[in-house]
Amino acid sequence: MNNKQDLMDKVVSLCKRRGFIFQSSEIYGGIGGFWDYGPLGVELKRNVKEAWWRDMVTGHDDTTPPPGMPSAYAMVGLETTIIMHPQVWKASGHYDLFHDMLVDCRHCKARFRADQLQASQCPLKPSKHPGEHTTCDLTEPREFNLMFKTYVGALVDPESEAFLRPETAQGMFVNFKNVLATARVKLPFGIAQIGKSFRNEITPRYFTFRSREFEQMEIEFFCRPAESPQWYAYWRDRRFQWYVSLGLSSERLRLREHGREELSHYSCGTADIEYAFPFLPEGEFGELEGIAHRGDFDLRSHMEGKLVRQGDELVVELGPDGKPRHPGSGKDLTYFDEETQERLIPHVIEPSAGVDRSVLAFLCEAYAEDVVPDENGVPQPRVVLKLHPRLSPVKVAVFPLVKRDGMPEVAMDIYRELKRHWNAFYDEKGSIGRRYRRQDESGTPFCITVDSQTLKDGTVTVRDRDTTFQERVAAKELVAFLREKLGPL
Ligand code: ATP
Repeated sequence: MNNKQDLMDKVVSLCKRRGFIFQSSEIYGGIGGFWDYGPLGVELKRNVKEAWWRDMVTGHDDTTPPPGMPSAYAMVGLETTIIMHPQVWKASGHYDLFHDMLVDCRHCKARFRADQLQASQCPLKPSKHPGEHTTCDLTEPREFNLMFKTYVGALVDPESEAFLRPETAQGMFVNFKNVLATARVKLPFGIAQIGKSFRNEITPRYFTFRSREFEQMEIEFFCRPAESPQWYAYWRDRRFQWYVSLGLSSERLRLREHGREELSHYSCGTADIEYAFPFLPEGEFGELEGIAHRGDFDLRSHMEGKLVRQGDELVVELGPDGKPRHPGSGKDLTYFDEETQERLIPHVIEPSAGVDRSVLAFLCEAYAEDVVPDENGVPQPRVVLKLHPRLSPVKVAVFPLVKRDGMPEVAMDIYRELKRHWNAFYDEKGSIGRRYRRQDESGTPFCITVDSQTLKDGTVTVRDRDTTFQERVAAKELVAFLREKLGPL
């Protein structure tokens, strides 16, 4: 690969060519910051979400303490709405504070996030001002709230104003008591949610990396304050390992602890899991997931109202009338600890990941070009997506070598049998070499070919995507063979 930009262009082109990711509303010229997932992309994205849900929620062992940790913990799922009561966003602080600073270039009218401007050239009309934006005529930075606004009901007035959620987290905080009351969980425990979030990003860019509509996988982990630093370190390391286990190499992946000055006013620790995306300059990393120790900030906000820092304390912000400027629910969101007979506000560790950014990182990591012998032994260049089998959109493809002599019928029977276990794909069109290469580009780990020997002895060839090595396996052993090779999904 010549350079990183070259790799990025190739990944974007593969995504379009093979149906992973399309521009939203493409036939109308597209709409900035919105992306559609095609037939292969939707499977890859579902697999990422299912791997997360299985590893974090349904596959989690509620009964055994993780090594070195003080106790076992439960994990439960939740699905909350995209539009919530507007007071949620006022009490949480998003209404007042969820903004970026925006500057306009007076020449070309391009808009930038003030904090991203340092090194950027004008991406739109460089001919109008070849210099850097920092040296050209920019407006003063001004606040721009990233929440999309809408109206609930027939009236368009301030009373019916509502927002599309910019994160899924608040749905879990406001349901804290519902979960406690119904799931019979005790501290520590986690609530997990996957869902769409919306941010009216000033400069959506880098393909799906910064979109205006995207999906998040978030956990709110509630624990006793005294144990919270230990649980913070646990989640930070566990979430890092999750990406490694699905194939991101630790050389392009890093865990970065925020410095004191970078921490939000309520946080006693935050780390980002970052990936060296190919669209970024050499040595730069982009955030895949943030793991934040949020203290009792969120539950307190939803009880008492919007909090602000006063010295070392977090206090409710008051309006001119001396009442909370953005009141909370007034409901009791405390926890009664039966072990210690103590009433407390749990502390929260929040691992917050982006589905789309993970998908993009997995695609960039998996993209490879190599030279392998074709069916006649002649070396041929190919593009291959070396995705982890859990993430591969299609797990196995089945081909008859030729479209005659009863091979398609045998291959179709095999396909139907495999389809009961995995997402299998049947293809009888074109040369066998081309069919292999299409599956290599889709990231399919195994291709099964029915040939003349199959008709004699019931064996098929199984071709491995990464090594292109082929071996003969009895057709009736295929399910067991593939289950062993693919591992638990
Ligand atoms: P950034 O600094 O890149 O804007 P952030 O720190 O605002 O990100 P968080 O609020 O921590 O992001 O959101 C948690 C996760 O949600 C991020 O790690 C990222 O994976 C994902 N995410 C946030 N904003 C976007 C976006 N505009 N497009 C795609 N994914 C996003």
